[in-house]
Amino acid sequence: NLGLRLEVINPQDEIGRLATTFNDTLERLENAFNRIRQFTGDVSHELRTPLTILRGEAEVGLKWAKEPEEFRELLRSNLEEINRMSKIIETLLELSRVEGGVKLELADLDLSDLLAELVQQSRLIAPDKSLRIAFVGQEPVTILGDWLRLRQVFMNLLDNAVKYTPADGEISVVVDTTGDSARVAIIDSGPGIPPEDLPHIFERFYRVDKARNRADGGCGLGLSLVKTFVEAHGGRIEVVSEAGKGSIFTVLLPRVVAG
Ligand code: ADP
Repeated sequence: NLGLRLEVINPQDEIGRLATTFNDTLERLENAFNRIRQFTGDVSHELRTPLTILRGEAEVGLKWAKEPEEFRELLRSNLEEINRMSKIIETLLELSRVEGGVKLELADLDLSDLLAELVQQSRLIAPDKSLRIAFVGQEPVTILGDWLRLRQVFMNLLDNAVKYTPADGEISVVVDTTGDSARVAIIDSGPGIPPEDLPHIFERFYRVDKARNRADGGCGLGLSLVKTFVEAHGGRIEVVSEAGKGSIFTVLLPRVVAG
């Protein structure tokens, strides 16, 4: 609280209206400050965990390790933590670039084409879970978009679908159009997302099950990246989820209007 709030004596007169506007602006500023504070805390917290592990391992190495194999094992684990930190920092940089208004590299692209390629890739990386990944998208669906960033968007969503769907489960990817929008739906048969978590899943570092996701290598940044990139394209993302049944993530992007 910045403690600068003005007292509004008569909300009807000009001074009163001015003071009200000032107080509203102040409140928005305070909220922004609070978000930044929260964010700084979250980043520090997320980076502290891998650092603590790195320190512990370095200490163990110096104090106890004797055999080359023991050192090698510690270095392998060091590298994992370093990669985790790099990934967090890369993602945060990419988020702030796009939020700061860095220009997207726009070109005509066919979403059916892009999704078909990504589905093919997912089938290759997830064979041990014997998932069935269906793809529906016969028609070309052309939009004006940043190919690399949209690729990241849909790769993240597909990765999540694959990650959270249990063995023998089904995933469907549907590309079509609705009104002025192109629509991509990614439908999984995973555990679903509890209603109380649903409003938060696009926030940075938010994870439904903290312990499980750390083991999976997730850090809760994927969906905030997805949302930021989709909105930078003038689109939006929606999610419907039912516990025990699965989740549907729908991305809507403005379509290229002919002419
Ligand atoms: P993470 O890297 O942890 O997957 P995300 O930002 O991609 O981070 O997702 C945030 C959280 O939302 C995840 O930790 C998970 O709890 C939940 N979530 C995302 N996608 C799904 C899904 N398809 N099914 C169930 N839960 C999901």
